[in-house]
Amino acid sequence: MKLQFLGTSAGTPTRLRNVTALALGFEGRGDWYLFDCGEATQHQLQKSAFSLGRLSKIFITHLHGDHIFGLPGLLTSRSMAGGATKPIHVYGPKGIREFIETSLRLSASHVTYPLDITEFTKPGEVYTDARDTVETVRLSHDIPSFAYVVREAALPGRFDMAKAKAAGVPSGPLLGRLHKGETVTMDDGTELKGGEFSGPPRPGRTVIIGGDNDDPALLGDALTTADLFIHEATLTEPVKAGLSFQSRHSTAADVAKAASAADLGNLILTHISPRYGFDPTERGLSVADLENEARAHFDGTLHLARDLDIYTLSRDGVLVKTG
Ligand SMILES: [Zn+2]
Repeated sequence: MKLQFLGTSAGTPTRLRNVTALALGFEGRGDWYLFDCGEATQHQLQKSAFSLGRLSKIFITHLHGDHIFGLPGLLTSRSMAGGATKPIHVYGPKGIREFIETSLRLSASHVTYPLDITEFTKPGEVYTDARDTVETVRLSHDIPSFAYVVREAALPGRFDMAKAKAAGVPSGPLLGRLHKGETVTMDDGTELKGGEFSGPPRPGRTVIIGGDNDDPALLGDALTTADLFIHEATLTEPVKAGLSFQSRHSTAADVAKAASAADLGNLILTHISPRYGFDPTERGLSVADLENEARAHFDGTLHLARDLDIYTLSRDGVLVKTG
């Protein structure tokens, strides 16, 4: 799996961070998925290898503007960016249909491809097919907000070529059929079953992409089966404690504690408040504060996302920053 952060800022864009969007691609597939679509996501895509024409599904976590204001422009541009006829499916909480349809109608815009929209009000399975299953978990925020759990289907076991050769299977059609799992009959009448020449199915990867949320422990059960958790860490504890209003966002410590309790391997924090600079700001706040706070509670692989960062998650669950 390959992920690219198209926006990592909370609420408003900064010079170095756009508002939330995340691309998720899979090896060997022509299409990819988008999670949230903050304003100017289509501009960020211009700097990415993910092409708008190949985007097949969009998952919206919640309806706050910094997560959806990029949708009308992205959807209309797609008609002219290689996606003129390829369908797209948008999933999101109730209201996403009205937002999209109203924006397009009032701006006299239209799309040239089939646009499906699925709304939901409750957590559960969003869709499933032969490639993957996506389900949601309800989060805690000031409007309905959900996390998406993407479960890749298991892959067939690896074919044991050496075992097939040792059984005397010649190269050619017979070997090809055995590789596909079929039963074949050798010249001497021996029957060989394809399944006996393959290893056990290889489990697919599970990635959880959270929406805005002030209680990451809600993801506890799902996290125990996840290879990678991507969640907002808008604030640090001292900053949140000093706010004059109630923030419905997580601190780095909140997320790290939930990840640690689930014995999670890989955590990426995103949706960073503009208060935190790459270098300390005039108030002395920097992203290092968030990272240090998280590290105090989590000893797995931890990253703080930056815009256009690319990560690769291997089949054995190893997360590497690759761009
Ligand atoms: Zn929000």
